[in-house]
Amino acid sequence: MSAELDELYQSIILDQNRRPQNFRAMESSTGHADGVNPMCGDQVTVWVKLNGDTLEDVSFQGQGCSISKASASLMTAAIKGKTKAEAEKLFDDFHDLITGKTDGASMGRLKAFGGVFRFPLRVKCASLAWHAMKSALETGAGTLSTEPHEG
Ligand code: ZN
Repeated sequence: MSAELDELYQSIILDQNRRPQNFRAMESSTGHADGVNPMCGDQVTVWVKLNGDTLEDVSFQGQGCSISKASASLMTAAIKGKTKAEAEKLFDDFHDLITGKTDGASMGRLKAFGGVFRFPLRVKCASLAWHAMKSALETGAGTLSTEPHEG
């Protein structure tokens, strides 16, 4: 990756961190889940609103590093309006991207996370909101942790 691209992707992440999209609690959600990443101190809550099989609305709130927040923000924008199956497929693609299995050529702004695989601890930051989203879709509500034991 060229230095210019690195800079572009870094600015996408910083911008999303400063002005996150869909950063709000949702009252009429069909599911929500909390995610915690004790290794970094990231916390996120993701709300989903399914209308049939379509993700009519997605939102999040939380605090943590810029990677976790930017990833949550771009995730909400990427999956809003998609079907549950499409959102889960995107989760798999994003996971492949941040673990270096694909270059994410067709992933738009999410490609900004393409360098994350070089920093294994950051993979958990980048995937936290996605895991919470999947959990919110599957179980309706719940809490998950990137670590088997909290604290
Ligand atoms: Zn983090």
